[in-house]
Amino acid sequence: ESLDQGLQKTKESFLSKISRAVAGKSTVDTEVLDNLEEALVSADVGIDTTIKIIEKIEARVAKDKYLGTNELNKVLQEEIASLLIDAPDPDYKDFETPPGKKPYVIMVVGVNGVGKTTTIGKLAYNFKKAGKSVLLGAADTFRAAAVDQLTVWSERVGVPIVKQSMGSDPASVAFDTVQSGVARDMDVIIIDTAGRLHNKAHLMEELSKIKRVMAKQIPDAPHEVLLVLDGSTGQNALEQAKQFTAATEVSSLAITKLDGTAKGGVVLAIANNFKIPVKYIGVGEKMEDLQVFDKHEFVDSLFS
Ligand code: GDP
Repeated sequence: ESLDQGLQKTKESFLSKISRAVAGKSTVDTEVLDNLEEALVSADVGIDTTIKIIEKIEARVAKDKYLGTNELNKVLQEEIASLLIDAPDPDYKDFETPPGKKPYVIMVVGVNGVGKTTTIGKLAYNFKKAGKSVLLGAADTFRAAAVDQLTVWSERVGVPIVKQSMGSDPASVAFDTVQSGVARDMDVIIIDTAGRLHNKAHLMEELSKIKRVMAKQIPDAPHEVLLVLDGSTGQNALEQAKQFTAATEVSSLAITKLDGTAKGGVVLAIANNFKIPVKYIGVGEKMEDLQVFDKHEFVDSLFS
């Protein structure tokens, strides 16, 4: 799906909430700001982020003395765009990997069910399409289904996979995968991990062990730790981001299932709260349904 189609529900609810907030008003006054605050919170933008946006608009009203409600959308767009973080690396849009990092190692983390396996499949598809060789590592050895599903994706996309029997040590799978990726001169290695949040100490331990064994072979690996969050869970996604960022160093985010939900405002809350760039968004179940996140396109889509 296109970004516009994927964000359809979020966009409709977002815009209708905003237009209700300003209904019958020509200038932005306290009442409009109160309504707007309510509208943003109910659009899953989150309280902290909403307050920040409202304060910026208040400051603007105070400075210019007058802000027409017809200008409000434009001001909102600017303030929202300023909350979102620019991509750290301009080349990532074309699925380029940074020079000197071959294989480029991506460790993917996230709770079960958020769309982790699907996102890995979509990433593999995009890297392959960009001419890169890709190797997958099935280090979520806790669930048999996880290995099976990743295998299905590897076949669908046509990329190799390293796996071991269920219940084996995830760090051992990660080690094997990186070793094999180096030996085969792969461009990209994507490693799936188990996402069991019920035991935080265990999660932290497991992820840091996986990182340690990777670094034994490639000192700066993993080059990227990608946290996958389910955007349709709204504020729950924020809570998961809190827990994962406490357990390991997360360098980028993928937010899935934005199609079919009106809770896309959570992207703003996540970006504002964690200062970690949203790199990808999922807007469907197919391999083509991964979009590289561009904050300007995102904001344009929300408001158009
Ligand atoms: P995992 O347990 O985190 O590995 O989750 P999966 O990758 O197996 O995905 C769980 C379900 O969510 C599957 O039915 C996927 O097809 C679906 N899914 C994943 N990403 C998206 C997305 O961006 N949009 C939609 N609509 N469904 C998605």
